[in-house]
Amino acid sequence: MIMFSIPPGKHKLPPLPYPYNALEPIIGAETIRIHHNRHHKSYVDGLNKAELELVKARNEGNYDLIDYLEREIAFNGSGHILHSIYWTIMTPPNLGGQPGPITSYEIAKAFGSFSNFKEQFSSAAEKVEGSGWGILAWQPAWRRLVILTAEKHENLTQWSSIPILVVDVWEHAYYLDYQNKRKEYISRWWELVNWYEVERRLILAMQGITPLTMNCL
Ligand code: MN
Repeated sequence: MIMFSIPPGKHKLPPLPYPYNALEPIIGAETIRIHHNRHHKSYVDGLNKAELELVKARNEGNYDLIDYLEREIAFNGSGHILHSIYWTIMTPPNLGGQPGPITSYEIAKAFGSFSNFKEQFSSAAEKVEGSGWGILAWQPAWRRLVILTAEKHENLTQWSSIPILVVDVWEHAYYLDYQNKRKEYISRWWELVNWYEVERRLILAMQGITPLTMNCL
């Protein structure tokens, strides 16, 4: 188990677990490059900056900007975490296997069937107003899976839930490849899901262990 903590201002952009073109033809290399190098990086930089400003505020006892800094930390921190998960729960098309035994069992328990789950998750993600995410999460308080959405990165969440499978539905995730056809992007995105990683994350979450992504340190 990883026992160290990440000090304020020390977050790093995690490397992608595959080359930029690995998700083609479903998501093009240019989309992945810009998404990872610019968008995800801006969340890491924004989080580090806000955390360091908060350290300074504490040292000086000056909380004039506290509301701004709290918003920055929620937005950029959630953006960094969700993107770190998003990269690892995708894999080159059709190499991600099938839903594992625990995943299949918990999905059937929570949603009735896998097709019910897929339809609900896809619809929820498609209907996010503006920029956001579709999220399958383990809710430890209730010992079952839930489907959530996030507007931006941090709004509409449910406390204590642990994201297991996430799809980015900001336009920057799909616009170059699908323009405004979010539904088509989501429908093709299923072919990229890394079900081995989903199973690993769910098993850890069910044991009360927050599943760190391999590359989010
Ligand atoms: Mn994004």
